[in-house]
Amino acid sequence: MSLFLVILAAGEGKRLKSEVPKPFIIIKGKTVLEHSIIAFKEFSKIKNVIVVYNKKHKKYLDKIKIKSIKKIIGGKNRQESTFNALNALKRMKCKKVLIHDAARPCPPTNLIKNLLKKLQSYHAVIPIIKVNDATKRISNKIIFKNIKRSDLGFAQTPQGFTFKKIYKKHLDNKKIIFDDDSALFTKDNDKVLGINGSKKNLKITDKEDLKIFESSLRGKIYYGIGFDIHRLVAKRKLYLCGIKIESSFGTLGHSDGDPVIHAIIDAILGACRMGDIGEKFSDQNKIFKNIRSTILLKKIINYINYKNYSINNIDINIILEKPKIKNYKKKMLNCIAKLCEIPVRQINIKGKTTEKLGIIGKEKAIAAEVIVSVIKND
Ligand code: ZN
Repeated sequence: MSLFLVILAAGEGKRLKSEVPKPFIIIKGKTVLEHSIIAFKEFSKIKNVIVVYNKKHKKYLDKIKIKSIKKIIGGKNRQESTFNALNALKRMKCKKVLIHDAARPCPPTNLIKNLLKKLQSYHAVIPIIKVNDATKRISNKIIFKNIKRSDLGFAQTPQGFTFKKIYKKHLDNKKIIFDDDSALFTKDNDKVLGINGSKKNLKITDKEDLKIFESSLRGKIYYGIGFDIHRLVAKRKLYLCGIKIESSFGTLGHSDGDPVIHAIIDAILGACRMGDIGEKFSDQNKIFKNIRSTILLKKIINYINYKNYSINNIDINIILEKPKIKNYKKKMLNCIAKLCEIPVRQINIKGKTTEKLGIIGKEKAIAAEVIVSVIKND
């Protein structure tokens, strides 16, 4: 079965009243869109993932790194967006397709499994949630009719279809607007199989949903601490937080001697319970002689991502007598954000002096201490 997944992420999400578009809001270190894609990760049968996005949101999409997805620009509405994706799939010998809203970031594995099983014998399969609450028809906040709820259901996504069928239905119904794709089958009296949906398969429409989603995530948070100090000497460059700092003295070290990056690495390794920087990058190893510490941090980030960890936040103290780091702060934040693949707002940098006391106060050394929290995604 040649199976593809379409993720619709082109909506404006106006009801959420958020500055960042809904698919790109970060919850526990990952965007809503990434959470949605990860939910399908273990289904190796899925040949390719098509993400349909709003071209106004390109800068947000470009920021996130998701491997092996195809990006397609959406249309004026949900239906047009779906059709754009289906059109792209037409050239890929697609037999079956799952269509999913990015706004549902956690479809349970069992639900997807069941849907795929049923899709082998049906042309249209969708998850349905039963209506458990007393149901009313209302107008201007006044209730004027009771509705029998036993034969009502809410449709969720992913919805699964035989590609040929759903493509033709979209082609034939370009001018009519429907809420979901299965409606095109129902309209023609074609059979749509309903399977059990899940309350966990929450659709994010407002801020309350975001909070419910956040608290439902299984990811555990761990904390780590890092400290480093480097001697200041003549004829060396000074790097702090990956940024070159104008200074007549620089830090002595096997690498570029950036104490902030070293403390960040140690804090991350501590949080992930993976040892320390010396074990990972020995100062006896010639490969690391004069290496930029930013390269070492990037290696660590790639490694912890591979182990299913992501950075939640970083708090940094840079302890030095001079120069003042104020003018470098923005550059430093941007550099760390890029390396750690998190937004700037999840990082904090503070400059401290030691009131001219001790070796730091006498400008003979620069130290850094860092606390990091990471999320282990199950
Ligand atoms: Zn160091």
